[in-house]
Amino acid sequence: MEMMSTDRLEEKAPIVGRLRKAEEVTWINPLLESTEEAMRKIDLTMEDVRDAEARLERFAPFIRRAFPETEKDGGLIESPIRETEKMKDGLNEKHGAGLKGRLLLKMDSDLAVAGSVKARGGIYEILKHAEALALREGLLREGQSYEVFAEDTFREFFSRYAVHVGSTGNLGLSIGIISAALGFRVYVHMSQDAKQWKKDLLRSKGVQVIEYAGDYGAAVKKGREEAMRDPASYFVDDENSVSLFLGYAVAALRLQRQLEEAGVQVDEEHPLFVSIPCGVGGAPGGITFGLKLVYGDLVHVFYAEPVQACCMLLGMATGLHNEISVQDIGLTGRTEADGLAVGRPSKFVGKTVEHLLSGEFTVEDDMLFVYMKELLDREGVFIEPSSCAAFEEAVKMEKDPECARYIREHGLADKMEQAAHIVWATGGSLVPEDVRASYVEKAKETVLH
Ligand SMILES: *Cc1c(COP(=O)(O)O)cnc(C)c1O
Repeated sequence: MEMMSTDRLEEKAPIVGRLRKAEEVTWINPLLESTEEAMRKIDLTMEDVRDAEARLERFAPFIRRAFPETEKDGGLIESPIRETEKMKDGLNEKHGAGLKGRLLLKMDSDLAVAGSVKARGGIYEILKHAEALALREGLLREGQSYEVFAEDTFREFFSRYAVHVGSTGNLGLSIGIISAALGFRVYVHMSQDAKQWKKDLLRSKGVQVIEYAGDYGAAVKKGREEAMRDPASYFVDDENSVSLFLGYAVAALRLQRQLEEAGVQVDEEHPLFVSIPCGVGGAPGGITFGLKLVYGDLVHVFYAEPVQACCMLLGMATGLHNEISVQDIGLTGRTEADGLAVGRPSKFVGKTVEHLLSGEFTVEDDMLFVYMKELLDREGVFIEPSSCAAFEEAVKMEKDPECARYIREHGLADKMEQAAHIVWATGGSLVPEDVRASYVEKAKETVLH
């Protein structure tokens, strides 16, 4: 019975046979369409992303006051891009990448407040919720500066409400920190994969951390149930949240300005490749949607997932989305990349990016540590292992036969010298020193295969 269904799956999507064996794979999305065609099937628009951008701007005076480290950016939570030529040399020398274009790092690893990409979507969703509550209860007056959200009357008001979220770690950090700053009672439901330091950090901020023996899916389920029981509570639904998605999408509008300022051209002669680590899909999905709105067919977006937790690839390749989990094909779902330790993908995201995504790579855990150390040695930059999955695109794009075919079919073969590759560094700055040191030790012990 079990075998039958797996066989049928493999017939439908032959790549499943390789995913089951936990092989590193390159998958080119057969459903990729022109951006224009793909966008016609999506209900969200640029207007929605602009609305999210404007909301973040309204909240900037509050953010600046609550998180003084954002002062220099005027209360906007944004990360720099960085040219990483020495890392490019490293990937070419040690991994035979043959990468010709520019290699850039989008450093969400350094995002203020939460130290990961979750500072975009997670914080946005809670701000939106707080704004809605304050307006509904007549607390916020028209034209008032949002700095008032830092005042005691607001904090007292929000203390009557609770926020719940299920998380492997970083989403919990982002939701926990912003909710506590606004005065909400906040409960973070965490899976066994979550790192101890993340739980400790949250507790130090007054966040209730509830731990579960099961995986991320179990933590989310419990969080949802708890929230349902209390009418004054709000559940952040990582799998289905449109506002999380839109908060992530704002990144693209800001990246466009940064690339212009840095003199990175994106046009017919200068293709842009963007590689993003993927868990349940919200962060990479939102960013993909934003990038495609901004750059259309000029941008080629790839995701990277651990071999044991390749849920988005499995869901997209089989077309089953959240109706299949990595455990269904005999994988464990366990990985050192805690930010990506998700067994079942978001259907909302999978369906939304179905015709926008160029492809995916899966990566063995060991490689994450190797890339991490390479980046640290060559550039002096630390990012967490989960983030490092994104280097797989830079390593594979010009040496993998599947990628070569993609490049040919998209007429890019003579443009790769002028291409830019952006590796989306999704987390890192909050990782404590001793944990970083243990990662470096682990990298030293890793023998390249
Ligand atoms: C959450 C996370 C991701 C992926 O985001 P999803 O929305 O779960 O797909 C990638 N990297 C890091 C470090 C993360 O914390």
